[in-house]
Amino acid sequence: MRCLFIVAALWLSSGLTALAATPTADLLVELIRADTSNPPGKTAQLDELMQAKLTRLGFTVEIFPTPDSGKSHLIARLKGDGSARPVLLASHADVVGVERDKWTVDPFAGVVKDGSVWGRGAIDFKGGMAVFAEAVMRLARNKIPLRRDVIFMIEADEESAPYNTTWLSQSHWDAMDCEFALNEGGWIMKRADGKVRYVSISTADKSSIALLLTAHGVSTHSSMPRPDNAIFRLSKALARLADYDTKPQLTASTREFFLTLAKTSEPPESKYFYDLVNSHDPAVIARADREISKDYLLHAIMRNTIAPVFLNAGFRGNVIPGSAQATINFRVIPGTTAADLIAEIKKVVADPEVDVTYQGASPNAVPGTVESPTNSDLYRALVESAGQLWPGVPVTPYLFQAGTDAGAWRRHGVPVYGIYPYPISNDDLSRMHGNDERVPIDSLEQGADLIYRTLLRVAARQ
Ligand SMILES: [Zn+2]
Repeated sequence: MRCLFIVAALWLSSGLTALAATPTADLLVELIRADTSNPPGKTAQLDELMQAKLTRLGFTVEIFPTPDSGKSHLIARLKGDGSARPVLLASHADVVGVERDKWTVDPFAGVVKDGSVWGRGAIDFKGGMAVFAEAVMRLARNKIPLRRDVIFMIEADEESAPYNTTWLSQSHWDAMDCEFALNEGGWIMKRADGKVRYVSISTADKSSIALLLTAHGVSTHSSMPRPDNAIFRLSKALARLADYDTKPQLTASTREFFLTLAKTSEPPESKYFYDLVNSHDPAVIARADREISKDYLLHAIMRNTIAPVFLNAGFRGNVIPGSAQATINFRVIPGTTAADLIAEIKKVVADPEVDVTYQGASPNAVPGTVESPTNSDLYRALVESAGQLWPGVPVTPYLFQAGTDAGAWRRHGVPVYGIYPYPISNDDLSRMHGNDERVPIDSLEQGADLIYRTLLRVAARQ
C-alpha cells in the first residue's frame, strides 16, 4: 500500500516520465534511459535490452564485444529466402555528452512532454534506432515473407572512435555485408505550419581533414621582443584565413538539393537557390552564396569549410617561443584531397615562414568516394514510400555535412543512404548535440511507417 502510494505520488509529481504510449516513442524512452554518453560510450547495455526484444521475435542476434569493456556491436538478422542480398539498417548507440545544467529536463530520463520525447540522443541517433527497430520488428510481428535478409545493427563508438564499424568490418565483414544500407544522414524537414517541406536522403558524407599551420620566429627573452614573433605571425595567418572562404562546389546531389530548396521556398530565397545552381556569372553566384550562407548548414554543404580547433604556442611566461601552431579542421566535399587543400591554404596564408602541413584525416574518410546511386531499389523504395506518406513532397539526394560511420560499407563499394527518419523543424534540428534535444512523437510514428513501407518494397517477397 505504502509502495503503491509512493509510486503514485512520484508519477503524479513528475507526470513527465510517463511512457509515451506509441510503440516507437516508448522504445525511444527506454533507449534514452540507458546513458551511453561517449566517452566512455558504454553501449553494451542497449545491446542487451534489444537482444531480448529481437530474439523473442525470431531474429538471429550476434553481439560482438570490443576490447573496451561494456562496449559492443549488435547485429540482428531476420532471415529471407536468400534470393536477394541483405539490406542493412545501421544505428549508433553512443551519444555525445551533455552540459547538464543547461538542460531544462533530465537528459537521461526519457521525458515525454509537449508531444515530444526529450533526452540526449532523441534525434542523434536513438530516435533513428527506435524507428529502425520498430520497422524491422513490425516485419517480424506481421510475419512478412522476405526475399532478402533484413539486418538491424546497433553500433558502438560512432561519436568517437576507435571501436566503430570500420574496426568491426576488419574482422567481421561477413556479418555486415549487404547489397545496400540505411544509416543516419538526410532530413525530413518541416515547414513552419508543421507540414513536410522536403525529404533529403544522403548519398555521400563530407569527410574531415586536419592541416597544421606552424609559424616560425626567433626564440628569445620576452623582455626584448623582435618583429619575427611566431605567435604574431600565426595570428596574422589565422586572420587571413578568417577573412577567406572557399568557393561553392556543387556535386550532383547538392545541385539537386538546392533545386529542391528553390522549388519549396518563396522569392527572394528561391531565386538565390536557382542562381547558385544555374548562374555562370561570378557576381550573381557570390550574391547567392552570401544570402544562402546566412544558414550555416547550407553554407557548409556547398563548400569545403574551415574551422580552427586547436592553438599551441609558448611554454614559459618569459620566453618568446620559436614556433606557434594551429590545427585547422576542414570538412571537405568528396573528391577533395589534402594536397588540394594545402595548396589553397598556402596561397591564402602567403607567408613562407608559416608551414602548412597535413595532420590527419577522419578514420571514416573514404578516398575518392563516389555518391551512392539514386537508381538502386533501396533509394527508389524510400522515394516511393515518402511519396505515399507525404504526397507531392520532393525527395532529393543530399551531401551530409558531417561524417558518419558509412565509410565501413562505402569502402567495400556498398551504397549507403542516410536519413534521420522523422519530420523535424529547424528548432528541433538545432538541439541535436545541443541542449534539450527532443523529437516529436508523431514524427517517430511517421518515420516508423516510412521505414516499414520501404522495407516491404525492398525486401518482402513479391
Ligand atoms: Zn549520429
